[in-house]
Amino acid sequence: MSNQALQDLIAKTQATLELIAAHYAPSVFASSMAAEDMVLTDLILRGKLQDKISIFTLETGRLHQETLGMLDRIRETYDYEVTPYRPQPQAVEQYVQAHGRNAFYDSVELRKECCHIRKLEPLNRALKGNASWVTGQRRAQSVTRAELHVQERDEAHDMQKFNPLADWSEQDVWDYIRANDVPYNPLHDQGFPSIGCEPCTRAIQPGEDVRAGRWWWENPDSKECGLHVVDGKLIRIKSHAAESA
Ligand code: SF4
Repeated sequence: MSNQALQDLIAKTQATLELIAAHYAPSVFASSMAAEDMVLTDLILRGKLQDKISIFTLETGRLHQETLGMLDRIRETYDYEVTPYRPQPQAVEQYVQAHGRNAFYDSVELRKECCHIRKLEPLNRALKGNASWVTGQRRAQSVTRAELHVQERDEAHDMQKFNPLADWSEQDVWDYIRANDVPYNPLHDQGFPSIGCEPCTRAIQPGEDVRAGRWWWENPDSKECGLHVVDGKLIRIKSHAAESA
């Protein structure tokens, strides 16, 4: 992409964020502090939109140290505290006692139950009381995101959902990060294009799909944690369909 084309894409994304701040606030940005999320973090904080679009992360209790370290990097760079949302300790304890700490490897159902406890329930808490939410998802990231729109209705949470980077390519993300000296998770330099919880994320080989390192033991069309499934698009995921819809 030419420099002008990237500038146009950035301007379009800034306009989306300003639209959210003006008409869909209070809004929250769900950041996993991955590369895409750091682009949005930079645009929100440099654009001084944080009073309208606050940033939180799902601190699942199973993140890499490098990912947790991004909380410090963001504080140092932008003087901003990302709000961590953590799972209910009792729910984690019950799951571990009933199934084992790493039972998510045993079945899609147990994986989704773990994601429900560590991600979905905290996400629901984080979204409560807001008019909209924002994600760093891109259409090109995986087959499960092929029909992603910049703005969509999240029926499950009864609110607007924005994916301002839907049109961005991976190259656009990295061009922006390098041009603007945006801090990023060092795992990206170690073969992790997509970063989630430590036991459910692995490095990938050159040429592999960027999401191939997430829940690699499952089929590609079930590789979502349920956070971003709307309009019934991924109803084919069997377990927790109600939560995922
Ligand atoms: S990604 Fe893995 S460890 Fe994290 S919540 Fe989901 S199943 Fe649990």
